[in-house]
Amino acid sequence: MSKFSVAAHTRRAAKNKLKLRAFLRKLGQSKIQLNRYAKQADKEVWQEIDCLDCANCCKKMTPTYTKKDINRIAKHLNMTYQQYFDKYLYIDSNKDIINRKTPCQFLGKDHKCTIYKIRPDDCRGFPHTNRKDIRYQVQEKTYANNLTYCPATLVFVEKMQAAVAGKL
Ligand code: SF4
Ligand code: SF4
Repeated sequence: MSKFSVAAHTRRAAKNKLKLRAFLRKLGQSKIQLNRYAKQADKEVWQEIDCLDCANCCKKMTPTYTKKDINRIAKHLNMTYQQYFDKYLYIDSNKDIINRKTPCQFLGKDHKCTIYKIRPDDCRGFPHTNRKDIRYQVQEKTYANNLTYCPATLVFVEKMQAAVAGKL
């Protein structure tokens, strides 16, 4: 796989975000079966995108933590739940538990996660392009919100758009 350009994807996302968000709104309202198209689009995304060339999600976004995530990571760091929470986390206006700072405290050299095996479930699932509930993700604006941060999301949405062209 040749190295892809995060900057070029970011520029393309900025240029096309309004059209792509309008497409996603239409997709969310449509009656067509999305999962088949999404499965193929997800497969193709990872032939173009290598997250180790990017790490934008770890640099610019934050995972949402579950209490189980915090317990697991705190134990790994020989900290208590509360010590870990006070050092790294806070509760935002949506009542989500998130990192205090970006980039993430666990982003290491070469864009690698230093707690990869025990990372938060949210990191494990990101960018949610292989979910079974694609329509729900579309309606909840998961892809619309992540388009400009995540090149994989951009490519996924573009591929979905090409796949359902003329069917909406
Ligand atoms: S825990 Fe790891 S995968 Fe998750 S945001 Fe931090 S560095 Fe990235
Ligand atoms: S999931 Fe998206 S933002 Fe995160 S490293 Fe991969 S391409 Fe980049």
